[in-house]
Amino acid sequence: MATFIVLLGPPGVGKGTQAKILSERTRLAHISSGDLFRENLKNQTELGKLAQTYMTRGELVPDDVTIGMIRDRLSRSDCKNGAILDGFPRTPTQADALESILEEFNGQVDAVPVIVVAENELIERLSNRWTCRASGHIFNGKTNPPKEVGKCDFDASDLYQRDDDTAATVKHRIQVYMNQSLPLISYYRERGKLVEIDGMRPIEEVTQALMDALKK
Ligand code: AMP
Repeated sequence: MATFIVLLGPPGVGKGTQAKILSERTRLAHISSGDLFRENLKNQTELGKLAQTYMTRGELVPDDVTIGMIRDRLSRSDCKNGAILDGFPRTPTQADALESILEEFNGQVDAVPVIVVAENELIERLSNRWTCRASGHIFNGKTNPPKEVGKCDFDASDLYQRDDDTAATVKHRIQVYMNQSLPLISYYRERGKLVEIDGMRPIEEVTQALMDALKK
């Protein structure tokens, strides 16, 4: 049966950074709903144009649109052994939809690590975040700077600051997480899948804690 890992936690907690590393170590595909929306936006697809109106405001894209996009992505062959899900699900409706999609694809959610950091740390991290244009590698101007300013260490593409990483939008995104995504913690706790991970540590230590949790 295919193995799916759902990474939970508010924006800025390190899900994207950790998902990329975990994906390399476990050889499971990394599926980021935010990256999929941004890719659609870059290619100016109808989906991208629709998503943009929500993304710039820091709101969630409607469930039906998001679920359709993820369903399509999970049906590709690189997900046949499973995937690390980063940013999806974000509502209980999406979590229910994921259950039925995985049933159809003969997979299941095996573990749901929730990464926890202090709220003031999130704002600090997001306002110093630099993202690579080519494939979404993430750096932090203060705590994890790229070797060369403005260039990605991995593929030398330009680094940019996301439109929704401005102070006002960041605060709203955290609020949206509290209102709409927090119920997922009890959703997965009740199903015996939740594992809490302390995210206030260096990247490598958080990765180690995640790998330990996945082995169990
Ligand atoms: P992220 O890169 O995960 O911070 O996502 C960026 C933006 O994409 C979010 O603020 C939402 O507007 C949208 N988005 C990403 N994932 C989802 C999701 N699962 N449900 C609804 N909207 C999402």
